[in-house]
Amino acid sequence: MIKDTLGRELHDLRISVTDRCNFRCSFCMPEGEEYEFFRREEILSFEEITKFVMAIIPLGVKKVRLTGGEPLLRRNLERLIAYLSELPLEDLSLTTNGFLLKEKAKLLKEAGLKRVTVSLHSLKDEVFSRLVGRKVKVYQIIEGIEESLKVGLTPVKVNVCVIRGINHTEIVDIARFFKSMGVVVRFIEFMDVGNINGWSLEKVYSAREMLELLSKRFELEPVEKSYRGEVADRYRYKDDGVEVGFISSITQPFCGDCNRLRLTADGKVLTCLFAQDCYDVKGLIRGSASDEEIREFISKIWAWRSDRYSEQRLEFLENGIMPRKVEMFRVGG
Ligand code: SAM
Ligand code: SF4
Ligand code: SF4
Repeated sequence: MIKDTLGRELHDLRISVTDRCNFRCSFCMPEGEEYEFFRREEILSFEEITKFVMAIIPLGVKKVRLTGGEPLLRRNLERLIAYLSELPLEDLSLTTNGFLLKEKAKLLKEAGLKRVTVSLHSLKDEVFSRLVGRKVKVYQIIEGIEESLKVGLTPVKVNVCVIRGINHTEIVDIARFFKSMGVVVRFIEFMDVGNINGWSLEKVYSAREMLELLSKRFELEPVEKSYRGEVADRYRYKDDGVEVGFISSITQPFCGDCNRLRLTADGKVLTCLFAQDCYDVKGLIRGSASDEEIREFISKIWAWRSDRYSEQRLEFLENGIMPRKVEMFRVGG
């Protein structure tokens, strides 16, 4: 076990397998911007990613989540999943926009993936299409969720990024819809990730407001966090036991328990979603460093870590100095 300067242990690893995406969500990768995506030779191979994960498991990593960009765009992703599923991890999951999920769910399950989280921000085709920057029928994503339930990629969770004035009026409908499917929804406060997503405090619909809204319609009871560092505040509907959660990164930051390391597709390590600095590990992996050397490098980075951006955000805003951050589609959420 290793601890950072604030006593936080490393527990979770998020791996972005590509920075490319078939959506252009306004809150993540707005349309009209020019993006330079990584070239093929720049991104880590599946063998390289697996080597990295194997090397750092002894430091305390128990959970791995694959993300992106859109992870299902990475060709033969199931090969990486098969490699990782052989490792002594408690959890192996994937976050996806769900567009390709219907056709891939079975393959992912067979490769050893445990569960999926699908991002779906509206039940209305028009609103959803506007948010994700292309014409998409919501039922296509729902079909992916249904297929995931069918093949056992469970518990299936749905991430909803809530933006005031855009989709906050759908919170009750979305909650009711997924409650009836037995799918856990996580309502996420709109975050100021990256530098180009048009974020402002006024557009944040707070987790407290969401909870108040849902409590008027459903009988809810709080659920204990299942481990230190779990980011969602969890609740259960009293009538059927289905869970719903809120992620309040803006209004009630949880940096004090943050135990995540992030690996980008091009082999950089970040210790915070809002980090300005990243550390190259591709050189180490490609330069045939031993597991021990990789482990030592990450131990040092973690030991120096003092990130708590979400707790400092208001201070930065008040002082008008906003540090330049890594874009969300590069870090993967
Ligand atoms: N493309 C995949 C997806 O959308 O699920 C995985 C990568 S995406 C960057 C990971 C998660 O971050 C998604 O659930 C997405 O909704 C969420 N996200 C992206 N931008 C966000 C923002 N500005 N505020 C809150 N959540 C955001
Ligand atoms: Fe793509 Fe996911 Fe970002 Fe949307 S949130 S643009 S689907 S990476
Ligand atoms: Fe962790 Fe950084 Fe988010 Fe705080 S702001 S919870 S340190 S990722």
